[in-house]
Amino acid sequence: MLKGKVLDALNSQLNHEFHSAYHYLAMECYFRSENLKGFAHWARHQYEEECEHALKIYSFIHDRDGKVKLDLIAQPPEAWESPIAAVEDAFCEEQSASEMINNLVDLALAERDHATDIFLRWFVERQVEEESHVGDILNKVQMIGDDKYGMFLLDRDLG
Ligand code: MG
Repeated sequence: MLKGKVLDALNSQLNHEFHSAYHYLAMECYFRSENLKGFAHWARHQYEEECEHALKIYSFIHDRDGKVKLDLIAQPPEAWESPIAAVEDAFCEEQSASEMINNLVDLALAERDHATDIFLRWFVERQVEEESHVGDILNKVQMIGDDKYGMFLLDRDLG
């Protein structure tokens, strides 16, 4: 049965995954408002993945007879200064999500909760992929800078 610090930390992670989802959904709105439909499509896909992460944790807590705590989800930004700023923000969010997962693994090991440790490995792998994936897009938007044609091509690729 899940309880104590590990349960609290998993509930915090659940909330954080929903926050990440919300953050990407806000990005979809922003990219749509900038007429970047490919970027919007990408942000929507990221939103769906973050929901999947949240629901995975939700099910794991239930499977181990823990109590799910659904907390307030922090408000995401309404807009970003530029598409580059938005992608930079997504990259920082992914880095902090990785940090949270790593801390959670440390806690699970310290508490000798091997089931949680094994469960979290999937998240450790996902975060490696996410950081690399968002990092790639960040490199591209930084390379493109103010070049409108470059943005047009990247937007088309992301769509
Ligand atoms: Mg996630």
